[in-house]
Amino acid sequence: MQQLVFATNNAHKLEEVAAIFRQAQDDRRIQLLNLNDINCHDDIAETGITFSENASIKSHYIFNKYHVNCFGDDSGLEIDALNGDPGVYSARYAGEHGDHAANITKVLEKLTGITSRKARFRTVISLLWNGEEHFFEGTVEGTIRTELSGTAGFGYDPIFQPDGYDITFAEMTLAEKNNISHRAIAVEKLITFLNKIQ
Ligand code: IMP
Repeated sequence: MQQLVFATNNAHKLEEVAAIFRQAQDDRRIQLLNLNDINCHDDIAETGITFSENASIKSHYIFNKYHVNCFGDDSGLEIDALNGDPGVYSARYAGEHGDHAANITKVLEKLTGITSRKARFRTVISLLWNGEEHFFEGTVEGTIRTELSGTAGFGYDPIFQPDGYDITFAEMTLAEKNNISHRAIAVEKLITFLNKIQ
């Protein structure tokens, strides 16, 4: 069995991705490890200005230090009326990294009075497999609600309503979100690729 390290410390992302791997990979050809499993507690600085750059920074950091097959991801929310913001700054839009409540408040304030609320979540994955880099991308289109709804998930989930649904990501179960999410689409492409090369 081959091992693959997911370069993240985000417990929510880890849970989502682990569930997709469990579902998509019946034969468990690949064992998914996280940074804890390889005893890495470093904070990898996201200094890029695109999702691809940040995903690549994470995968290269782990590969250069631990010499393992690994992937990094970067994701965020792009709002058309805000010219694509918060984008790569999604985690620290209101200043402090990971202050989801403040980030949501800032988005809702900026969109006050704006009726065109189209947005999308985007994920880019950088895989380093035998030292070669491969990218996978996923997006999910939706709109930004005027108020929070739901308590599941993380980040901007309570204000993001995917197209074709009348509930937010935060009102969905993990399985429902994983059916349609940006991260799920990117991870499924990654798994398809891994299945093909093995
Ligand atoms: P990163 O990929 O950990 O850098 O994620 C950046 C930020 O984007 C997160 O802190 C969240 O604010 C936001 N984000 C990414 N994916 C999701 C999601 O699935 N739901 C809600 N917010 C997300």
